[in-house]
Amino acid sequence: MAKHTVTLIPGDGIGPEIVAAMCRVVEATGVDIEWEVADAGAHLMDEHGTPLPDYVIESIKKNKVAIKGPVTTPVGTGFRSVNVALRKALDLYTNLRPSFSIEGTGARYSDVDLVLVRENTEDLYAGIEFEEGSAEAAELIKFCEEKGAGTIRLDSGISLKPISVTGSQRIVRWAFEYALKNNRKKVTAVHKANILKHSDGLFLREAREVAKEYEGRIEFEDRIVDACCMGLVLNPANFDVLVLPNLYGDIVSDLCAGLIGGLGIAPGANIGAECAVFEPVHGSAPIHAGKNKANPTAEILSAILMLRHIGEDEAADRILAAIRAVLGEGTHVTYDIKRTLTGSIDGAVGTAEYADAIIAKL
Ligand code: NAD
Repeated sequence: MAKHTVTLIPGDGIGPEIVAAMCRVVEATGVDIEWEVADAGAHLMDEHGTPLPDYVIESIKKNKVAIKGPVTTPVGTGFRSVNVALRKALDLYTNLRPSFSIEGTGARYSDVDLVLVRENTEDLYAGIEFEEGSAEAAELIKFCEEKGAGTIRLDSGISLKPISVTGSQRIVRWAFEYALKNNRKKVTAVHKANILKHSDGLFLREAREVAKEYEGRIEFEDRIVDACCMGLVLNPANFDVLVLPNLYGDIVSDLCAGLIGGLGIAPGANIGAECAVFEPVHGSAPIHAGKNKANPTAEILSAILMLRHIGEDEAADRILAAIRAVLGEGTHVTYDIKRTLTGSIDGAVGTAEYADAIIAKL
């Protein structure tokens, strides 16, 4: 059996607990993985002067594969998101977020099987912002006024929304290639092109162009983001592969997590041409940190994506079957699932005990 070295980023908040649970489950399959721990987050600021030390990027570049727990981003102040910085530094332009129903979660739907492909490097997440009251913001406001582009109030903060031909083509092509390889039938491009003609309009135009290359093989349609949200809630089974610019992808993927029973069971992957970083959709849930309470399923499902990525499909299949068995029985579930099922958290098990139940089913 091949030996794999994988960079492991425990993160903060509930990160270390769910990552420990994930590691135990993966190791219990017998796959030969060496974890190279390279942590990131606010707790590294004192020692390294940054929440994302260079060794994290170096380790991922060397190993090509990483799995991480969530990392907190202070709101409004402090450092920019470690998660966004990592995606940019490694050009992890695809954010893959599958949503599929698992029996026993108490979710509203039982027939969800869709895959959300989010562009990960552009759009309002490009990090190009001008603070309210700054000289730069004033200059930009003046420029827009002089060019007849429009009037912006002087007391405005400004965030730019760049969407490129290059970025749009490569993410839409990635979505179509994924659809082909994974036996999917349809790709839906999601946008607000009716209002944002030069950013989302460009995204839609490029999506239509790329779709022509797959005509006859993969069906293509487009939806305006608000209508798409309603369609997802009305009948998620109508959707197959969705491809979205960054911000809509972030928001709609949480909506999709809600369709299948919540953030505790929504996995993800950030994928570039060279490297891939696997992580759950959810954040660090600081209110639950250190309580052995959080649901590690999303982290473990992210490990399943990672195992498939490194060719360990058999281990991935076994873990998924074990998760389905444990959730199906419903006796060893974490507080979030218990609450959805019964309206109370009485009888819920902890993060570690849930992992034990999965290991017992492997
Ligand atoms: P969050 O996803 O951390 O949590 C929102 C709520 O969802 C929690 O309070 C909890 O009730 C529930 N939840 C989330 N994960 C759960 C789990 N595994 N088990 C059970 N319940 C779970 O969202 P937030 O509170 O908006 O963000 C907290 C921090 O995480 C912020 O600093 C944010 O920037 C960061 N964040 C990081 C990532 C990442 O590392 N990739 C992603 C999203 C948010």
